[in-house]
Amino acid sequence: MASVKESLWDPVAGFGVTFRTMFRKVFTEEYPFDKKPTAPRFHGRHQLNRWPDGLEKCVGCELCAWACPADAIYVEGADNTDGGRFSPGERYGRVYQINYLRCILCGLCIEACPTRALTMTNEYELADRSRESLIYEKKDLLAPLLPGMQEPPHDMQLGSTEKDYYLGLTGAATTGERAVEGGGDQ
Ligand code: SF4
Ligand code: SF4
Repeated sequence: MASVKESLWDPVAGFGVTFRTMFRKVFTEEYPFDKKPTAPRFHGRHQLNRWPDGLEKCVGCELCAWACPADAIYVEGADNTDGGRFSPGERYGRVYQINYLRCILCGLCIEACPTRALTMTNEYELADRSRESLIYEKKDLLAPLLPGMQEPPHDMQLGSTEKDYYLGLTGAATTGERAVEGGGDQ
């Protein structure tokens, strides 16, 4: 049990902490008016990337969904057809959803993706007013179309066979592809 002498000094010691803190540099951030950039590898909102002609990199394999510890990803794959091609390969992701009510932004899904279709951006402002709006659909996650890209479905424009297509990805094309991936590309 504290002595009477010690208990008398306690308020003085407490005010000492207050006085020391008063003269320290203030760390208040004026968010959301002054937004600080995140670290380059910050795990923010996901992005589904495209090839340089606009076709989707996702092949609907579901590996990201299996890797997710929070069961936050739902994928349904489907076959590409001659009249309806969304990716250069045989299959594409017909349905792709990420539930941000569940997601803990751990990044295991992007590690599991074999085509680098899925990466993470630096975007962290994900709050919203309804539960439904936090389930992101494929259209919400797809990378924007850059100049030279065309919205699928369309034919493979970088080569008529899969081999030609991927060999046709020159250094310049690959650079363009990297630019489509998120700023926080992991
Ligand atoms: S970041 Fe983690 S929790 Fe979120 S979808 Fe990917 S694997 Fe699941
Ligand atoms: S994002 Fe990657 S891992 Fe997930 S279904 Fe598409 S290709 Fe497969």
